[in-house]
Amino acid sequence: WSSNTIAVVTGANRGIGYEISHQLAMHGLTVIFTSRDASVGEAAAKVLQERGLNVVYCQLDIVDPSSVEAFSTWIKEVYGGIDILVNNAGVNFNFGSDNSVEHAENVIATNYYGTKNMIKAMVPLMRHSSSGARIVNVSSRLGRLNGRRNRIGNVDLRRKLEEDESLSEEFIDQTMDTFLEQVKDGSWKEGGWPQVYTDYSLSKLAVNTYTRLMARIYSERENIYINCCCPGWVKTAMTDWAGHTSPEEGADTAVWLALLKDQTVSGRFFAERREINF
Ligand code: NDP
Repeated sequence: WSSNTIAVVTGANRGIGYEISHQLAMHGLTVIFTSRDASVGEAAAKVLQERGLNVVYCQLDIVDPSSVEAFSTWIKEVYGGIDILVNNAGVNFNFGSDNSVEHAENVIATNYYGTKNMIKAMVPLMRHSSSGARIVNVSSRLGRLNGRRNRIGNVDLRRKLEEDESLSEEFIDQTMDTFLEQVKDGSWKEGGWPQVYTDYSLSKLAVNTYTRLMARIYSERENIYINCCCPGWVKTAMTDWAGHTSPEEGADTAVWLALLKDQTVSGRFFAERREINF
């Protein structure tokens, strides 16, 4: 890899995103290190810059359209395009079975719609090199459609989200809308949604489903390969440092996917460098 390969990482100022940036830069790439809070992000990027790594800071709030637009304009002007996008930024507020309207809206807006904002903004800037461009979505096993535990109870909805032929972006959005309406009117507990970390699990289920959908569209049309991964249960602020693994280990599969040469790999879900079921 060389510094001509440009990789964008969202939510890079701490946790898994910081480590993904670190590891990609250690491979010799130019890492566009982004965060929503500029002073915090610049300070974090400086640590890697001082080690001689090719890390360039830029502010980016994935839920703020003007920030995403300013970022895209800057990338285009300075680099012309990018090769790799790692959608790592995410939030999680529920540490039990609670679901406040505010938290549910924020989680779905950030984890699902924020990820989507970035894909839509970056795809036109992705370079069409022979090795293809890569998108990696940092997701979670909690968002598995067919996990034994914590899956959507409504069999019909699950089947519709699973069927590749009829799946559409509108249907994924609609599913999120239905959930948020039920959170607002208080009926979500009877809605058959995932039992634990409900809004978070659902936001990641949407990311996974969107990954499958986009893989079908982009790998054929644009030579862009898109996969998602679960980092494991990682010691970061998100878990209150209660995970099993370090951010270094949590970053590993995302970095491996970002650098994967095999162009047959798209629309799949990985953990610990192994494919897992959606
Ligand atoms: P952290 O809470 O440590 O980091 C999350 C990062 O996302 C922070 O940099 C945060 O910025 C950023 N972020 C949040 N909202 C936005 C936004 N609107 N725009 C830009 N950046 C934003 O968590 P982790 O490092 O643990 O999580 C990274 C990813 O891994 C997330 O997608 C998470 O869901 C996923 N994951 C984590 C697991 C774990 O066990 N830790 C397990 C499974 C998945 P700020 O500092 O400003 O808040």
